[in-house]
Amino acid sequence: MIEVMDGTDRADELHVLACTECPRISSASAKGWKAYRVDGPEDDQERVLGFYCPECAEREFGPH
Ligand SMILES: [Zn+2]
Repeated sequence: MIEVMDGTDRADELHVLACTECPRISSASAKGWKAYRVDGPEDDQERVLGFYCPECAEREFGPH
């Protein structure tokens, strides 16, 4: 996974979310964004939260 941070200086200070699937970055409110637990390929692998913008969340996981 490549993190795209161009044009957004110190985005981490704004508590915005970066979409897992596309370069989109959330607004401060992160309205409509969803976090999903992403399982690793191995059972003993650590599970991490992946953030998805509304568009990608619907494409990847459906409207619900
Ligand atoms: Zn996205």
